[in-house]
Amino acid sequence: MNVIIFTDVNGVIGFGRYAGAYRIATELRKAGYSTQVIEFFADITLKDIEDITYKFIDNNTLFVGFATTLLIKKTKKSSISRLDRTKENRYSGHLPQDEDFVQEMFNIFKKRNPQIKIVIGGGKANVTTLKGVDYWFWGLADRSVIALANHLKFGNELVTTPGQIGSIISNKDYPCYDDYYKSKIMWQKQDYLFPNEHLPIEIDRGCIFRCAFCANPLHKNPGEYTKSTEILKEELIRNYELFGTTGYMFCDDTYNDSHEKVIRLHNLFQQLPFKLEWTGYGRVDVIYSHPEQRELLIESGLKAILIGIETLNPAAAKEIGKGIHPDKIKETLYYLKETWKGEIITTGSFIVGLPGESEESIWSTVEWLQKEDCPLDDAVFSPLNIRPTTDNPNAPISKIAANPEKYGYTITGPQLGTGISTDGPQWQNEFMNKEYAEKLTRKIQESFLKKKPLADWAVYSRLRNLGYKHSELITKTSKTSVVLDDATIRKEKMQKDYFKKLLS
Ligand code: SF4
Repeated sequence: MNVIIFTDVNGVIGFGRYAGAYRIATELRKAGYSTQVIEFFADITLKDIEDITYKFIDNNTLFVGFATTLLIKKTKKSSISRLDRTKENRYSGHLPQDEDFVQEMFNIFKKRNPQIKIVIGGGKANVTTLKGVDYWFWGLADRSVIALANHLKFGNELVTTPGQIGSIISNKDYPCYDDYYKSKIMWQKQDYLFPNEHLPIEIDRGCIFRCAFCANPLHKNPGEYTKSTEILKEELIRNYELFGTTGYMFCDDTYNDSHEKVIRLHNLFQQLPFKLEWTGYGRVDVIYSHPEQRELLIESGLKAILIGIETLNPAAAKEIGKGIHPDKIKETLYYLKETWKGEIITTGSFIVGLPGESEESIWSTVEWLQKEDCPLDDAVFSPLNIRPTTDNPNAPISKIAANPEKYGYTITGPQLGTGISTDGPQWQNEFMNKEYAEKLTRKIQESFLKKKPLADWAVYSRLRNLGYKHSELITKTSKTSVVLDDATIRKEKMQKDYFKKLLS
C-alpha cells in the first residue's frame, strides 16, 4: 500500500466517518497511489498497529498520515459532553494516545520500512512539535498531498518550510480551490462501509457570512466554491448503486446560505431514485426572508439541524454580525415548529461571553429555551473561544481574535492546556472572564439535561449508524446510561467486524 491514513472521531457517541481523510484518499487514489484509510484509531492497540503494519506496509509505502481534526485525548468514556470534549482536547497532544504509545507506533512503522514518512494533517498540524513527524500539512491538503506523494515516489520538487520538527507543506503553495466544483469522495469497497451507513458528503466549501467570533478557514463570496449539481448527483447515485447509501451528514457551513441553492438541491433530491435523509447546518435569518424554505427543507430530507443563533440579546447579535433582530429569530422558530415538530430535530447553538451580553441576559435566554412551548428541541451552549496563535501565520482567525480590544476583550492569558488544540487563552470582558463563562455554560447545560432528545444534529447520523431508528431518535429522552451502554456495545461490535474485514 502506498499510503495509510489513520482517522477517528472519538469521545462522541455513535459512529460516523470524518470526510477529510476520505477526500484526501480520493485524490491519492485518483493519482494512482493505493491508499488505505483506517478507522477507530483512538481505540487501536499496539498489537493492532503491528497487524496493520504487517498487512499494509511494505517497500512501496510512502507515508503514514494522521487526520487529526476530530481526534481528542483518548478517553474511556464512549460519550462526553461538548464542554468535556473541549477540556480533553485542550490537554491533548496531536494524537489521542500518550507519547510512549505514539513513539512505539512510529518505531513499528519504521522498523518495517525505514524510509517511510510520518505525516500530520488537519486541525492539530498548526503546532509542529511532535517528535518523529516528517511532514505537516497546513490547510486543505487536496492538492499538496499529491505533491508529497510525487516527491517521495519520483523525487519531484516539493515546496516546504521548516517546522519546529519536520517540514511544513502549506496550501498557500498548493491552492486547491480552482476546480472545487468537481470535488467528490469516491468511496471504495476497501473502506468497508457498514450496511445503511450515513456518510459525510461535501455540498459546498466555505461560508459567505462573517460572524465576528468565527474562525472559518474560508470566508467566500456568494457563488464561490460551489459544487456542481451534476457532480453531486453523480456522487449520490454512485453511492446508492454501489453501497445502498441513502443517509448523509452534509458538510456545508450553511446549507441554506442561498435560496437558489435550496431550490436547486430540492429539485435534485426529488429526482433521486431513493428517499434522501440528511443532517446539517442552517441559518434562521435566511428562512425568515424565504419562509418557503420550511417546506423545501423538510421535503429535501432534512432530519436534524444545528441552527447558529448564538444570542437572543439584540445588542450582542448586532455586535457579532447576526443578521436580524432576535424577536424575528424566535418568530421564525415558532413558524418552523408548526411543520417540523416530530419530523426534524432542531438544535440551537448559543455562546456565553459574547460582546455586550451580561449573565442576566444569558439566563433570560435560558428561561425562554426552557418554556414548555419553546420551538427548539435542544440547545447547546459554548463559552466564547478566542483562538490562540500557532506556528502557522495563516491559520484561520476570527474578527474578535484579530482585534480583541475592539470588541471589549483583554487577553489575560495564559494559554490553556498544551496549545495544540484550537482552544485559546483566558480573556476578560466587561461582564465575565473565560473561566466564569465556562462555569456558567456547565450550569446551563446541566439545567437542560431533562429536556435533551436522544439525538441532536451532531449524533443523529452516528446513532442511525448504530442501528437506531428515526422514530427512536426523535423521542425526547436524555442520554441515560442504559442508552449509552447499549450504544457502546453496538459500536464495539462494529469495530470488531471492521477490523476482521480490514485484516483478513
Ligand atoms: S458561525 Fe456559521 S454562519 Fe457564521 S461565519 Fe461561521 S460558519 Fe458562517
